[in-house]
Amino acid sequence: MAKKLKQFAVIGLGRFGSSVARTLFEAGHEVLAIDADVEQVQKFSDDVTHVVQADTTDENSLKALGIRNFDVVVVAIGEDMQANVLTTLLVKELGVPFIVAKARNELHGKMLEKIGADRVVYPERDMGMRVAHNLVSTNVLDFIELSPNLSLVEVAAPRALVGRSLAEANLRAQYGVNVVAMKRDDEIIVPPLPSEKIRDSDILILVGGTAGIHKLEELE
Ligand code: ATP
Repeated sequence: MAKKLKQFAVIGLGRFGSSVARTLFEAGHEVLAIDADVEQVQKFSDDVTHVVQADTTDENSLKALGIRNFDVVVVAIGEDMQANVLTTLLVKELGVPFIVAKARNELHGKMLEKIGADRVVYPERDMGMRVAHNLVSTNVLDFIELSPNLSLVEVAAPRALVGRSLAEANLRAQYGVNVVAMKRDDEIIVPPLPSEKIRDSDILILVGGTAGIHKLEELE
């Protein structure tokens, strides 16, 4: 049976919102893009299913767009925090099942959670962290903070570990880090067995405490 495609609406077509909208559309989903600025709207005419000019702090505009029929709404308004919060509140009240909202800082994020955003994202902070981790260690390919003391990282197998099995490498005892999966060419080994030997071009996907991950990043 074909997978049911979801209907997405993205509000605010800055760099973040436009990237989300284009990526969803390219993946084959229906995407309604909304922005108050007519120039932004014109730039987008060929990139998504529909694009409309509207001020989403106006409840009647949201109702006219039928926003409550969308499965997911992404609120990507940036600088105008009041418009961002008000839009999130209205979209929530209209009954959208899943709302993703972009926050500028922790306090703003808390407010969005209280209003009922299902997921709050901090694109600038998260990208800053990824770049910094990659600068500290070129082995680090990706870094996602799951909570203040728990992170998920993707690292190219450090040379010091190549040739050892996961049991021998014993990252859990040494660094408090679990190897949840390994990428080898096009294959994903999940979960890897303790006897799995780490090869030169493997990518390890790890979950663990931030301090242990920092220590592991120092391995060459
Ligand atoms: P990015 O960093 O993603 O480029 P930003 O944080 O600088 O974005 P803005 O450019 O302030 O964010 O906002 C993103 C978009 O949201 C803008 O194109 C703006 O026109 C739109 N926007 C702002 N207020 C509203 C509103 N009330 N209704 C709809 N769109 C809005």
